[in-house]
Amino acid sequence: MSATIIDGKAFAAKVRGQIAEQVARLKAEKGLTPGLAVILVGEDPASQVYVRNKGKQTVEVGMNSFEHKLPADVPADELYALIDKLNADPAVHGILCQFPVPPHLSETEIVARIDPAKDVDGLHVVNAGLLASGQKAMVSCTPLGCLMLLRDQLGSLSGLNAVVVGRSNLVGKPMAQLLLRDSCTVTIAHSRTKDLPEVCRRADILVAAVGRPEMIKGDWVKPGATVIDVGINRIDAPERGEGKTRLVGDVEFGAASEVAGAITPVPGGVGPMTIACLLANTLTACCRANGLPEPE
Ligand code: NDP
Repeated sequence: MSATIIDGKAFAAKVRGQIAEQVARLKAEKGLTPGLAVILVGEDPASQVYVRNKGKQTVEVGMNSFEHKLPADVPADELYALIDKLNADPAVHGILCQFPVPPHLSETEIVARIDPAKDVDGLHVVNAGLLASGQKAMVSCTPLGCLMLLRDQLGSLSGLNAVVVGRSNLVGKPMAQLLLRDSCTVTIAHSRTKDLPEVCRRADILVAAVGRPEMIKGDWVKPGATVIDVGINRIDAPERGEGKTRLVGDVEFGAASEVAGAITPVPGGVGPMTIACLLANTLTACCRANGLPEPE
């Protein structure tokens, strides 16, 4: 058996198209343009690429993009003053600070400073709490993207056994909450889990968010399961030439795709959904801020 390969790139493009239509309608009917502010501290090359992509895609769907680049040694107070200003700016509906930040800054404190209503990364404890208690929250973009792919693939998730490997605040925990909200029976596995292969073999839905290249083996996958690979790991690829690298996920893709019913590739699976969901969250934040019905 060979799994369906879930095309996250195509799905994300479709989602961005729908967002662009909704943004155009908001502008035409209400004179409103959603705005996303992105803060980048320092010059980490990977972060620069992420921020550039976010800005480009924000503009492409018709939203305003505000980029704030700060030097690596910016004092915390200066960064907080910027966040306060963005919190108060009615043209800004979403705020995110690109992580990681230099070590003299605290990611926890930065997130705490952002108005929860503008926390489009869904990291603020208020949003984590709202999600956990089943209320309207800003939901972290990557797990939201995974959920959209799962619903598209499977329809109703009700009653399915879901195993999430990884318990980070960014991915694992909100993923588990979303699956629970969709009435899955959820197991959260982590580095202390006993007999992880056996736990994974029970999963109708297996979400891997570990950050270890191809750690989850093909024979850990239940036949027919839907596998969502969140991991992005860069490994050496001498077969491509000296010094070359390539990206792999947390799942051993070749072997797993022989067993699974459907699986996301890396790259081209979950990754593209993350920015699409960031834009969706910004649109939602704009609608909520203006007392308008939320987009579907
Ligand atoms: P973290 O490092 O914050 O969390 C990793 C989790 O994996 C931890 O809960 C850890 O357990 C668990 N873990 C580590 N080793 C093992 C092991 N041997 N067995 C079982 N569990 C283990 O990572 P993130 O959640 O932030 O990210 C996970 C992956 O997803 C990374 O590859 C990251 O690059 C990728 N990512 C991709 C995104 C996308 O857009 N596609 C967005 C965000 C992340 P414990 O808590 O016990 O230490």
